[in-house]
Amino acid sequence: MNAFGGKSQSHVRYRYFAAQAEAEKLPNVARLFRAIAYSEYIQASNYHLKLGHLERIFTTSSIVTCGFGNTKKNLALAITGKEFGITEMYPPEYKGLTKSRKEKITERNLLWNYLVERLHKKLLEKVKKVIDKNHDIEPKSIHICRVCGYTRRGELPNKCPICKVTKEKFTTFT
Ligand SMILES: [Zn+2]
Repeated sequence: MNAFGGKSQSHVRYRYFAAQAEAEKLPNVARLFRAIAYSEYIQASNYHLKLGHLERIFTTSSIVTCGFGNTKKNLALAITGKEFGITEMYPPEYKGLTKSRKEKITERNLLWNYLVERLHKKLLEKVKKVIDKNHDIEPKSIHICRVCGYTRRGELPNKCPICKVTKEKFTTFT
């Protein structure tokens, strides 16, 4: 439930970041933020699907840092958020579930989530280095796997390296 809450908030946050990058005339960074927002949505949906059995209203307890900054600050905030996901949030949850072995799909979602977060962090760090020098990044396409949220900047892969679906299951941001 909390992972669903966190991913939902992240989705919205990245859409705001994209609007800010657009306003700063950084269309290629805006594209990356829009693509990451979509990846967050895919991941939120995977958690949401697993909550259907609850048959009741639920609330989530999640914290996503937001604010009004420029793109340089937003990139730094995004990297901190990804770092938190990798080191604090998903690994302990994943370990807990692995021990109980009762929630196979959620266990898989958490693993996917962890792997995608790591990729996003690397991508954002690369972009931040360019933006810190006051340039926009190169206008490359970004491909998102609609099953697990895997994100690739540049060439469309034939197969998703995380969940193994073929390229037809990708959405491209150009
Ligand atoms: Zn995938």
